This record gives sequence, C-alpha cells and structure tokens, in this order.
Amino acid sequence: MKYDCLIIGAGLSGLTAAVIMAQKGYQTAVLEKSPHIGPTIRGFRREGIFFDTGFHYTGALHDGGPLDIFFRYLGMRDGIEPIPYNPDGFDIFRCLDPPFEFPFPYGYHRIRERLAAAFPGEERAVDSYLQQVREAYRSKPYINLDPARSSLGLPIVNGPSLGEVLDNLTKDRLLKGVLSMHCLLHGVTPDKVPFFDHAVVAGSYYESVHAVKGGGTGLLRAFEERLKDLGVDIYCNREVREIFIGTDLAVSGLGTAGGERFEGRCCISTLHPQQLLGIVPREAFRPSYRRRLEELEDTCSAVIVFARLRGEGPLLDRANLFLLPHPEFPDPDETEEVEQKLLFVSPVYGDGEGAVQEGVVVICPFPHTGSRNRSSSFPEEGSSHYDSFKKEMCGRIMGHLEASCPEFRERMTVVECSTPRTLKRFTNSPFGSLYGVKHQIDQINPLPVTKVKGLFLAGQSIIAPGMLGAMISAFVACGAILGHDRLRKELRSWA
Ligand SMILES: Cc1cc2nc3c(=O)[nH]c(=O)nc-3n(C[C@H](O)[C@H](O)[C@H](O)COP(=O)(O)OP(=O)(O)OC[C@H]3O[C@@H](n4cnc5c(N)ncnc54)[C@H](O)[C@@H]3O)c2cc1C
Repeated sequence: MKYDCLIIGAGLSGLTAAVIMAQKGYQTAVLEKSPHIGPTIRGFRREGIFFDTGFHYTGALHDGGPLDIFFRYLGMRDGIEPIPYNPDGFDIFRCLDPPFEFPFPYGYHRIRERLAAAFPGEERAVDSYLQQVREAYRSKPYINLDPARSSLGLPIVNGPSLGEVLDNLTKDRLLKGVLSMHCLLHGVTPDKVPFFDHAVVAGSYYESVHAVKGGGTGLLRAFEERLKDLGVDIYCNREVREIFIGTDLAVSGLGTAGGERFEGRCCISTLHPQQLLGIVPREAFRPSYRRRLEELEDTCSAVIVFARLRGEGPLLDRANLFLLPHPEFPDPDETEEVEQKLLFVSPVYGDGEGAVQEGVVVICPFPHTGSRNRSSSFPEEGSSHYDSFKKEMCGRIMGHLEASCPEFRERMTVVECSTPRTLKRFTNSPFGSLYGVKHQIDQINPLPVTKVKGLFLAGQSIIAPGMLGAMISAFVACGAILGHDRLRKELRSWA
C-alpha cells in the first residue's frame, strides 16, 4: 500500500493532520493501534449514561476563536456544536483551608472585575497578570496567524515560571492560588511551568469556554465524516512497530505488528516521543537526541470516578469544581493522601446533548505508572492488590468530596472507576499520563521537524496539551511540510 502521507495515531492531532494533508491533495492514511479512532477522547456508556473521558471542555471555540477558525478551515464547523459553559463561573475554585470560594468567569473584562472585587488592593497585580497572559497567548504561532507577530523559533524553556511571575506581583496566597488553578489543564506545577506555556493553555479559557454536543464522541463523528469525504484511509487495530528509514536518512514507509507494510515518504508521528525510540532504527537518531527523548518527564496520571446523580436538580450547572486543601496548587507526586490532593469535578450530561445532568466525573491527579514515586504508584492490573487498592482509592475520593462539600452528600452512585493503569491501556501511552510529556522549565521537548527526512512530529507533547494544543501541533507539523506562510494565509481567510 502506497501513500503520500502516513500518519501514526488517530488522536486529535493525527486526525487534524490527516484532514489538512488530504485537503491539500495528499493521498493520506492514518494508522491507529486501538480498535477505534480517538481512544483518548472517545468516552463510554454505562447504565445508559454517556461519560466523557479525555475531553470535557475547551477554550478558543467561540466565533472567530482559534478552534472555530481551525474547524472552518478543516470543513468541519457544521458538524461541531459548541455548548457554552457558565460565563459567570465556569470553574469554581473552592479552598478548604482557609475556606474560600471563587467562581472563575470568562471574558477578560469579567475576570478583571471579579478578581478586583474579591481581592481589593490587588488591582494592579490582576491587570498586569491578565495583560501578560493575553500577550503571551496571542503571540503563539497558529493562535496568532500573522507571521510577523508570532515566531516559529525555538520554544521558551527557561522561564520565568508562573510561580515567579505571581510572586513578583502579589503576596496574596489566595489570589496566587486562583491564578494557578488552571495548572491542572497542563499538568505542571506553578514553579515548573514556563509562564508562556501556562498562558497558552489558561489564556484560551479566559476568552470563552465550551463543551461540545456529543462530547468526545461528537468530535470524533465530525472527524470521521470529513475524513470519509476526503477519501482518507483509516486503519484501526494497526500498531506501528517500525518506521523504515533508508541509508539516505529518509523515511520510506511503516511496518505494523501484523506484518503489513505501508509505503510513503512523508510520515507524521503523533506518538508519545519516547515510543518513537522503539520504532526507528537505532542509527536514525543521534545518541544525544535519543538520550533527550529518554529523559523527558511525563505529566501525572489520575484516578477517575464516574458517578450517576441521584435526587433532584443539577449539582454543577455548566461549571466544574476545583476542590483544594489549601490555596497552593498541590503537586500530584508529593502525597498519597487524597485529602491533600486537588479534586476536579465535572458535570455529565448523560446523553452528551447538554440537556439533563445525569452524573459527575471526579478526577484525582495521581502519579503515572512509570513514576519514580513507587510507593504511591498503582499495583499492576490483574494483581491481587489491584482491585482492592482501586476500590479503596475510589472510596477515599468520594468520601473526601462528600465530607468537604455537603451538596454532594447522598447525591452520587459510583458507576465506574479508572486508574493510571486503565489510562495507559486505553490511550496506548507509555505511562498513562494525562497530557503526555510535561512542558516545563529546562525540559526541551522535541520539535516538529526531525533530522530524518520526511519524519515530522505532532501531538500534545510537542506543542501543548488539550484539544487546542493537539490541533495546533498538527498545523505546525503540516506547516513544516506545506509551508507555514501558505497555511497561515489560508487560515486567515477563515478568520
Ligand atoms: C482524563 C483526561 C481528561 C482530559 N480533559 C480534557 C479537556 O477537558 N479538554 C481538553 O482540551 N483536553 C483534555 N484532555 C487532554 C486531551 O485529551 C489530550 O491533550 C489530547 O486528546 C491529545 O491528543 P493527541 O493526538 O496528542 O494524543 P493521543 O490522543 O494520545 O493520540 C495518539 C494516538 O496514537 C495511538 N497509538 C499509540 N501507539 C501507537 C502505535 N504504535 N501505532 C499506532 N497508533 C498508536 C494511540 O492509541 C492514540 O490514539 C484530557 C486528557 C485526559 C487523559
């Protein structure tokens, strides 16, 4: 089988790259290890309720926002129906000690007004912080489509960190806590995340926040339809085991676990960068590059509880809850005590249509399966301890939530629980981490262009996590092939 472009992995980045390349006339194939495309965001149904897994909400989907423009360019906008989150408080920051609650709104003006009212005397800190976030966010290539104002140069890996910026602005622990809560959305603590990377993720949620009708499955349906129209071949149950690279250091094709060969001189890999090491010939990468990939640190994983709602009325209306023991953002690797961790609670609209709330998803960050912190790592699936440890963790998480938040008491029945091991199995990632490799100070993540001719990298570990980061990574990788100026110019015509 011969193609112009071969894409490894059918997650958000791989599917986006497939549409871009096919629209440009490349005969394109996508190879996915799982039985279905998009295992990370596919979600599942239990007891008649649809639960989302790797996609709950996103920024940047408002009219004219970066994701809106991307979907228009991809010819998919009609298939995506955004459902707005609560503009007056899309994420509720609830601190237990000292007791403090702040419903985080979206829209810069609203955020500024609410923060100024909640933190009198801190107006200058708030203004400066918001201005810095906005500037950084809007200078990110492909969020900003003007080549003169967004450099595609090397990523900023040396700071300042979010923590340093906040320490320079204010001494108020609670204000710093509120402005750090969205570290959960990239998985790096405030002292380690470059301010720029934090701003790219958090800044997208400051402008607008939406769910999508049908959740992750709704997104995948839209991709499937578009890829079918474009004649892209999708091969599921195909684990890529080898990237063929000739002595000229150029890609010539892929080999799968089942022994199939796919020929092609252009390949976009969306795998976790460390998985690349197992599928390229040893001599293709220099020892220093291999070492760099080997040493990359992953984001944390999570224990996730899926619960059905009992009783009358919604619990969180178009908003998520961030429950924290104290204002400081807890490091998931530091403690095993559930009470000392952040809990993220998201409403579930069982049919995915956004009509009736039928459940909640509770995410408790937890060390990933390859963590050096073995004492708090999960036992192997199938081992005698696994089921009991999982049950105990689930009970502790729900117990902590009910004890801390009276409105949740006697309102939830647990339907399912997943662990870091479950995430690893379903997402086919090496450690079951939430967002792949960390984007953190002093860590140089691989660039989209490699030294191997025809081999390009995309995915959450390359540019940024989340739907926005994964999709930008696809545009950057395809831009390296097709020409950034051309791609950005075409995108501008949809703005
Ligand atoms: C619990 C959870 C909640 C989240 N919530 C949100 C949210 O609310 N909003 C948001 O924007 N983001 C959220 N995210 C993050 C978001 O889901 C990811 O950043 C994004 O889906 C990553 O897309 P990707 O294409 O980079 O990677 P992936 O989806 O991991 O794609 C890589 C693909 O490669 C496949 N693969 C692996 N090995 C092989 C192989 N050898 N051969 C072929 N295929 C292979 C995998 O099966 C996978 O499909 C969440 C993530 C998790 C885990």
